[in-house]
Amino acid sequence: MYKKSRAWIELDMGNLKHNIEEFRRVLPFDCMLMPAVKANAYGHGAVLVAQALQKEGIDAFCVASVSEGIELRQAGIAGEILVLGYTHPAEFGDLLAYDLIQTVVDGNYAKLMRDDGRRFKVHVGIDTGMHRLGERWENIEEIVNIFRIPNLKVMGVFSHLCVSDGNSVQERSYTMEQIHHFEYVVEELHRKGFHHFKCHLQGSYGILNYSQCCFDYARAGIALYGIYSAKNDRENAAVDLRPVLSLKTRVESVKMLYHGEGAGYGLTYSARGNRKIAVLSIGYADGVPRELSNCGFVLCNGKMAPVIGRICMDQMLVDVTDIPQVEAGDEAVLIGKSGDLEIQAEEMAQWAGTISNEIVSRLGERLERVAE
Ligand SMILES: *Cc1c(COP(=O)(O)O)cnc(C)c1O
Repeated sequence: MYKKSRAWIELDMGNLKHNIEEFRRVLPFDCMLMPAVKANAYGHGAVLVAQALQKEGIDAFCVASVSEGIELRQAGIAGEILVLGYTHPAEFGDLLAYDLIQTVVDGNYAKLMRDDGRRFKVHVGIDTGMHRLGERWENIEEIVNIFRIPNLKVMGVFSHLCVSDGNSVQERSYTMEQIHHFEYVVEELHRKGFHHFKCHLQGSYGILNYSQCCFDYARAGIALYGIYSAKNDRENAAVDLRPVLSLKTRVESVKMLYHGEGAGYGLTYSARGNRKIAVLSIGYADGVPRELSNCGFVLCNGKMAPVIGRICMDQMLVDVTDIPQVEAGDEAVLIGKSGDLEIQAEEMAQWAGTISNEIVSRLGERLERVAE
C-alpha cells in the first residue's frame, strides 16, 4: 500500500521526545510521567506513541478502557497500564489476563470487585471536587475500607483537577482546595498505616500551572503532544512544547466554479466571480469538524485556502483561486506546516468552536499514521 495516499497523520517523534524533556525539566525529580494515551493517544496512534514513550524510559501509562489497555499489551508495551474509567465486571478477567490496573470508581464499585473474589491491582479514585469519578474525599472510612478489601492490591490513589487550566482567583483557590483535599486523604491513609501506594493528581494543566505540588506520577495528556487546549495558553506557558501531529490530505481534483454557482451539499456556498476550487480527500468521517463548513482554512503550497461549502463525509472543498500551480495529487495541510505558514490544532479548534483535545481525539481510524 502506498503510504500517505488519501489522508494521513505524520508524527514528529523528535518533538515528542523534546516535550518529554520539557516536562521532566519542570517536574520534581521524583515525579514520574504517566502519559495519557487514551483515545488512540489523542488521535495520534496509541501503539506508535506508546512505543516511542517506552523508548524514552516511560513505564507507566493511562488509558480509558480495557480494550485500549489490551491494544498496548498486544503491541508489546510493558510497565504499568492504568484504566482510568469504568470496566464492566464481565471484563474483569481481561484485567488479569493483560495485567491492567483498574480504577476503583467509587465505594460501591470496590464491593463489586470484592465480590468477584479474584485478586485485582487497583488505584482508588478520589473525588476532590470535580464530582465525576472517585469516592468523595470526605468519606475517609469508606476509602479506608477499600484499602482493607483482601483481594484488592491497592497500588495507588488519585484524583483529577477540573479548573487547573484557569487562572482566575476563584479557579486557583478551587484548585488549591482540591489539592488540600487530596493531601488530607493521603495523610489519613498514612495515619491508618497504609504507606505503599503511589499518589497522582495532575494532568497537563495541573503540571503547567501547579508544578510545585506534584506527587509520584503526573498524568500528562494533551500537552505532551505539544498541544494546548486553547490558543492563548501557548504564549503564557513556561515550557516550550512542540506539536507532534500534522494532518495532511491530497488534492483529488482542481476545477473552475463560475460566478453565481453553488458548491457542495445544500449549495451553502455560492461563487462571487469565477473561482478555482480544489477537492480534498478528507472529510468529517476522518475527524474534520463539520463546523469548518464555510469557515476555517487549509494550507496548499504554503498559502491559506479557505474552506467553501459543507464538509462532506469523505471530501471537502477549498478555494485556491489565488494559489498558483495547485494540481491533483498535491498535498494539503489541515494541521501543521506548509512553507512559512502553520495551522495549529488550537486554531482549528477555535474555528470549530471547541477545544483542541476534541479535535485530535476524534481523528479517524482510516487515517494512516506515519512516524517520521
Ligand atoms: C484524560 C485524563 C488526563 C489527561 O488530561 P490532559 O488534560 O489531556 O493532560 C489525566 N487524568 C485523567 C483522570 C484523565 O481522564
